[in-house]
Amino acid sequence: MCGIIAYIGNQEVVPLLIGGLKKLEYRGYDSAGVCLVIDHGLKTVKEKGKVVKLEKSLVKQKLSSTIGIAHTRWATHGEPNQINSHPHLDCSSKIAIAHNGIVENYHALKELLESEGHKIVSDTDSEIIAHLVEKFYQGDLEQAVTKALELIVGSYGLVVMHQDEEKIIAARKSSPLIIGVGDGEMFIASDVPAILKHTKQVIYLQDEEIAIINKDEYSIKNLNGQPVNKKIEEIKWSVDQIEKGGYKHFMLKEIFEQPTSIANVISGRVKDNQIKITVNFDIKKVKRIIITACGTSWHSALIGKYLIEQLTEIPVEVDYASEFRYRQPVVNKEDLLIVISQSGETADTLAALREAKLKGAKTLGIVNVVGSTITREVDSGIYLHAGPEIGVASTKAFSSQVVALLILALYIRQEKKQKLDERLLKDLDNLPQTIKETLGLDADIKKMAKEFKGVTNFLYLGRGINFPVALEGALKLKEISYIHAEGYPAAEIKHGPIALIDQEMPVVFIATKNNLSEKIISNMQEVKARDGKIIAVVNEVTEEIKKLADYTIEVPEVSNKLSPIINVIPLQLLAYHIANDKGIDVDKPKNLAKSVTVE
Ligand code: GLU
Repeated sequence: MCGIIAYIGNQEVVPLLIGGLKKLEYRGYDSAGVCLVIDHGLKTVKEKGKVVKLEKSLVKQKLSSTIGIAHTRWATHGEPNQINSHPHLDCSSKIAIAHNGIVENYHALKELLESEGHKIVSDTDSEIIAHLVEKFYQGDLEQAVTKALELIVGSYGLVVMHQDEEKIIAARKSSPLIIGVGDGEMFIASDVPAILKHTKQVIYLQDEEIAIINKDEYSIKNLNGQPVNKKIEEIKWSVDQIEKGGYKHFMLKEIFEQPTSIANVISGRVKDNQIKITVNFDIKKVKRIIITACGTSWHSALIGKYLIEQLTEIPVEVDYASEFRYRQPVVNKEDLLIVISQSGETADTLAALREAKLKGAKTLGIVNVVGSTITREVDSGIYLHAGPEIGVASTKAFSSQVVALLILALYIRQEKKQKLDERLLKDLDNLPQTIKETLGLDADIKKMAKEFKGVTNFLYLGRGINFPVALEGALKLKEISYIHAEGYPAAEIKHGPIALIDQEMPVVFIATKNNLSEKIISNMQEVKARDGKIIAVVNEVTEEIKKLADYTIEVPEVSNKLSPIINVIPLQLLAYHIANDKGIDVDKPKNLAKSVTVE
């Protein structure tokens, strides 16, 4: 998920690796490290924190080498500290690896390796790879890596070296990796900016390809050992374009990353129609659940209420963290407090957590940033593994939070020995693909957005599990376009907001198929009768919808419990394009901060 750069050639490798890591900093990371081959030995230097800190320790040590691998880590397993940062070594300290991604079956592999005498020193999933390669190493690194990869379930962008072999092995599965081809030198990186200064000639590795690289040549094979012919491509983009993956803003990039971030939150947790998560207390005994959060996370909490109540029959309350902490909440030992925070540092959420702990409640965190304060203080947690979110307006963290809440609800149901709905599990499995299809609506939404950039008010309406999606759609628009927007449960408009509706007022209806579809169509009639401009998010443009809606957005149909994740995507895109048309710096909207660490 984070950054890799590796080099083999004739240049001094330290400045080159540090320069490369600096170019990857925009991705966000928590620690950094390098490993160099020096006189047939490995020298590893790692630091928690910024690349400059690593650079300082390297400068002090005056190391000289022409082969090395380097990594910026964005922790998924084990908190950010020096031991957990990459590169990792095997027991003999002859093999070094740097890994992006997640080894899903690392528990089983760890047990196997420990039973064979391997000493695992970090809490990461990645270190396992170094020991697996060691297990299979018989004088041929390529063979050992290939064998190790056969056992790994999960995702990897991986570089491996052995102190006695003048080569670097690289492999990729669901985590990007490129080879930069130079003259008498080769580069490997997880992203183009890291090597652009040195070469524009690159080869994009594909999934399950393995590259054997020395300074003058490379060969690429599939996991069966058959050679694969690859084209060298020339990079034509500027560094800035590339850092954002060709997207104009991080927010847009992150919207488009949702197929991957959703695959990551599901990965290893839903398998063979079973939910595999660890909760450190007996969740069956919980009598009531309170979910507390702020902003976008509060919206995912509201969706969580629907999911948990419907799947587990445990009553759920949702509270703003800032309100919960000060209202002397009635909480006791039979309650579970779930806190949701992208950063794991949100001040009000943290205070709410501490308040509930004092009162004896069990606590569970749904957090993106590993090792953050909330993750250290909760009894149990579910990490999102969404990767760094840089855009201030949250997108991929929101959808991952909803999936994490669904997984938790399914887990509680499973613990209560109640049957899991197979259609829902199948749709969950297909969700990354369905999101990809939904993102195909981007061009149409971009066109539609042009009509609305002069508008000053928007209304978003939804019902049931999609009511919080209306809130989230409105929040996204407010945050980045500065257009006033409100979300409401559709039936509530009669109690007030309907007074605002006229031909100037766009009203977004989330009207995908469910047991409330008829009712939401009646709400559309009410808006139409007052000349409101209707934008309808639907699964099918029926004759009736055609008559009522001025604009339609047709999204794929999924189980109702997953529909918020699909339905929010066009709303994220709509907000983005309207704001972008208004010339706003979408990644840094005025007055907002990414992580709210003050109350
Ligand atoms: N899963 C690995 C870890 O937690 C790699 C994280 C990354 O991609 O940076 O160490």
